[in-house]
Amino acid sequence: MLLKTKVAEKQRLFIDGEWFEAREYAPLYSPYDGEIITHIPMASEAEAEMAIQSAVKAQTSMRKLASYERSEILYNLTNLLKENFDRAAELISIEAAKPIATAREEVKRTIQTYRFSAQEANQLYGETLPMDAAPGGTGRIGYTKMEPLGVIGAITPFNFPMNLVAHKVGPAIATGNTVVLKPASQTPLSSLFLVELLQKAGLPKGAINVITGRGKTVGDYMVKHDNVKMITFTGSPEVGKQIREKAGLKKIVLELGSNSALIVDQDTDIEQVVSRCVQGAFSYQGQVCISLQRIYVHENLYESFVEQFVKETRKLKTGDPLDEQTNVSALITSNDVERALSWIDEARNSGAKICLGGTSKGNVLLPTVITNASPDLKVSCQEVFAPIVVINSFSTLDEAISEVNNSRYGLQAGIYTKDIRKAIYSTEQLEVGGVIINDIPTFRVDHMPYGGVKESGIGKEGIKYAVEEMTVQKLVVINNSIQ
Ligand code: NAP
Repeated sequence: MLLKTKVAEKQRLFIDGEWFEAREYAPLYSPYDGEIITHIPMASEAEAEMAIQSAVKAQTSMRKLASYERSEILYNLTNLLKENFDRAAELISIEAAKPIATAREEVKRTIQTYRFSAQEANQLYGETLPMDAAPGGTGRIGYTKMEPLGVIGAITPFNFPMNLVAHKVGPAIATGNTVVLKPASQTPLSSLFLVELLQKAGLPKGAINVITGRGKTVGDYMVKHDNVKMITFTGSPEVGKQIREKAGLKKIVLELGSNSALIVDQDTDIEQVVSRCVQGAFSYQGQVCISLQRIYVHENLYESFVEQFVKETRKLKTGDPLDEQTNVSALITSNDVERALSWIDEARNSGAKICLGGTSKGNVLLPTVITNASPDLKVSCQEVFAPIVVINSFSTLDEAISEVNNSRYGLQAGIYTKDIRKAIYSTEQLEVGGVIINDIPTFRVDHMPYGGVKESGIGKEGIKYAVEEMTVQKLVVINNSIQ
């Protein structure tokens, strides 16, 4: 691997503004070529406890900061990220095998996410209440204010190691909370880099703590801890369900998986949409929560859509994530390659057609296009999280909508149609958190409300919405009638 960025041989935990060596370490391997990148601290429960206590203590200094000061820290961070843009992108690319061009896009979005957070820090409005609307309320003044919850436990996945951390850390700082961050074991480097920058940006000591290590150990410890007031989790539904069971009365936000779908109606100009659909299906090897996994194309267009889709997919280059030309690189683990290949085999053996791909080169699964797959196959009904797309045909819009809704998940769905009535009808019928008209379900910008229904999760992200989740509305009533 072409390592332009230097990575220290051994990483450290970040607790109470200090770097700590852990008692236990594990090698971090490149998902692409298996080389050791560095060694990662595997925090114990005792170290997780230190991080939580540090965050508890830092609440005092965070509460002393005015809104404009928290905003300024976040703006400082955006400037530092711009200054360190190349390093940030390379760290993501190295640890996650994310093609470098895609990693750069992630850093740009991360800067946006922190900028939105900086703006939101100055927008924490409450409301004035007409207390005298009730007979007993005469002579009283009522208003609400947004207050921080306290310590927020943030648990993040591997696939957007910088921007999905930003979706938790940005609003938490904006609202005056303190944070214990547990990044995914495969992608801790971008989080450790973030705290380096946050220190320089002026964040008070202890306001953010990073503990790396096994989710089952440190994640679980945080989830059960009484001093952690909220868990904001992005990851798989399996872990999300466990968190919900263990979190007790803590506030939780769960941003989970999906097998997102798109409807291509009969009036669509295929030429215009195919390359966008290919991008939605294969960007970051399909390891995106709103990756385009299922496409339902009107029967009149079906054959030419599949033909053009395959032609466009053939143009994708596979290989080293640090190579500028690479579009599709390695899956996050070799187990994921094996899992994806076995799901493709299941589809092949049950009569589906593998139009392209279906094999791997090392840990790179070649972009795979499957047609004629029944809804009960794993490639259709589970989250593939790999560069695999299933394309089927439909004859009526109701049939297509029912196929899209035939899923445990409901994060986002898309529809291409020129008919406004069909577009509006679809928004009413699709069981998802977001409907994207005339674009793929993979569309996301960082300030929009984002979150799913069914097994795709609970609660919303998108900075303004995360700010609401991370605050408590406190009511103040003043009796103004007593002299
Ligand atoms: P994952 O395996 O669920 O891991 C997510 C995080 O949870 C990691 O930090 C992991 O730590 C930790 N964890 C594991 N077991 C835990 C436990 N028992 N208690 C507490 N924490 C625990 O997910 P992933 O493979 O990293 O990410 C892929 C999944 O994330 C997909 O399902 C994808 O759809 C979803 N995702 C959703 C969104 C969204 O916004 N809806 C966005 C991106 C990704 P370790 O790494 O140490 O195991």
